[in-house]
Amino acid sequence: MSRGKRPKWMIDIAIERMNILFNRAEMEFITHPERSNRYVELALKLSTKYNTKVPYEWSKRYCKECKSFLKPGHNCTVRLVNSEVNIFCGECGHVMKIPYRKEKKLKRRAKYESRKERNDE
Ligand SMILES: [Zn+2]
Repeated sequence: MSRGKRPKWMIDIAIERMNILFNRAEMEFITHPERSNRYVELALKLSTKYNTKVPYEWSKRYCKECKSFLKPGHNCTVRLVNSEVNIFCGECGHVMKIPYRKEKKLKRRAKYESRKERNDE
């Protein structure tokens, strides 16, 4: 296969397959954690092959270091530190830091802007 951008329909299929794999990983985690890790591995392979990102809702559900599927309360700890979400991987000890919801900041800003406008009247 040649390198470069894939047609959109191909990327859509890759994303759908990644969603299916992560859903399965979630479902089987309690009974077969090793299968979950295999699903993550497959999903990441798709992500590389199609040069597309792991869907946002799943991007926090696997360890970027050891590629284990993470389930809060089972093999990872999620903590809010300052304005970051810290995800501590219980498998390898890696900590992932994810900036906490940009949307919230935007909303606050919108509120501030509208208040300012009212005051200007
Ligand atoms: Zn890890």
